[in-house]
Amino acid sequence: MFLVGISGGIASGKSTVVAVLRELGCAVIDADVIAREVVQPNFKAYRQIVHYFGTKILLQNGEINREALGNIIFFHPEKQQLLNSITHPEIQKEILKQILKYFLLGYRYVILDIPLLFENRRFTKFMKYTVLVYCDPPMQRARLMKRNGLSRAEAEARIASQLPLDEKRKLASCVIDNSGDWESTRQQVLKLHARLEDSLDFLWARLAVGTVVAGLGGVVYLLLWHFIS
Ligand code: ADP
Repeated sequence: MFLVGISGGIASGKSTVVAVLRELGCAVIDADVIAREVVQPNFKAYRQIVHYFGTKILLQNGEINREALGNIIFFHPEKQQLLNSITHPEIQKEILKQILKYFLLGYRYVILDIPLLFENRRFTKFMKYTVLVYCDPPMQRARLMKRNGLSRAEAEARIASQLPLDEKRKLASCVIDNSGDWESTRQQVLKLHARLEDSLDFLWARLAVGTVVAGLGGVVYLLLWHFIS
């Protein structure tokens, strides 16, 4: 099995591309969804957040008030590190669990949808391919204004707060240019999908696991043979 990271910029079309990949039957792990799950009540990260930040960050239904937590971090940036040290290990554990699940189900590759894939390059070394969903700046701004009902200045400010797509482009091993119409993007996704399906990179992990399992089986057989005879 191999891993494929996918990311974009705000309103560059990542959700649109991921929806097509899911439709084609790909296994997709959404890091954003996992990040929201691990802070739900009864999860370890939830208990630690309440322990360190207090019950004042809870909503009446017991869930974490993300806005209140966001405000604390905005005014006390040093607390961002504390929050990350609580949530990141839990997010990583959950991602690993899901990768293992897809491996056991026989998937050849898993797509990891990670918002800051190119900014925070901790994960890229584990990826066989990194895909950037690109959109040219004027189109990105126009789509963001339309989708989020923003003024031109608001949209520009949001885009400017991220690493520019042209920078991310240099870091990606594969680019889907979503500046055109839906059909042009769909064709590019189909091409990417065909390339991933044809890749034999998944064989290495299967061979490695097969070798380890066969080796362990051999050792067990020898031990049994030794003790029984
Ligand atoms: P992201 O997930 O990267 O923030 P989205 O996939 O939500 O971006 O796309 C941003 C907006 O642009 C959405 O409203 C979406 O419907 C629209 N959009 C995306 N791709 C296209 C396209 N190729 N043509 C027209 N509109 C598009």
